[in-house]
Amino acid sequence: MRRTLFESLVHAPLTEAPPVPDDTALAELAARVDRAARRRLGRSLAIRQVDAGSCNGCELEIHALNNAFYDLERFGLRFVASPRHADVLLVTGPVTKNMRQALERTYCATPDPKWVVAVGDCAVDGGVFSGSYAVVGGVSNVIPVDPHIRGCPPSPSDLLKGLISVLEQVSIKRPPG
Ligand code: SF4
Repeated sequence: MRRTLFESLVHAPLTEAPPVPDDTALAELAARVDRAARRRLGRSLAIRQVDAGSCNGCELEIHALNNAFYDLERFGLRFVASPRHADVLLVTGPVTKNMRQALERTYCATPDPKWVVAVGDCAVDGGVFSGSYAVVGGVSNVIPVDPHIRGCPPSPSDLLKGLISVLEQVSIKRPPG
């Protein structure tokens, strides 16, 4: 114990230095998402996150959008607890066989117009879990996906850029009828 204490005093910390804040770039990215959401939807964006079987690395980055550093709620981006209140499903992980039905039901419960964003390399094609007996594969094997946001895991800024691309490039899907 004494040795550990001594080493912690003489050695540099093992943790990485925090990222240098770029408040202007972050504010601009978030404001672009908010503007695009208001133009498309007439209101701010509601996001439901769905973990379809990830290692939780992608979730850590998604959660970071809500922390004191990014604090995206101040720009009108909200995470909601129910797919019935969501505009966007942010889906992570390879889809496991156990989660397949839950993902399909979540998709059906989300009102139109809706978008599905597959987050992380695993959500594209299974990533490092590809070929496992326990996974179905990427998210698009189960439900329609609009854009993919690549990365293992993607950074919060990548997530914001992905949301912008959804709102700016994908046309609104009207319910049939
Ligand atoms: S993309 Fe990487 S961080 Fe995200 S679920 Fe897969 S292995 Fe984990």
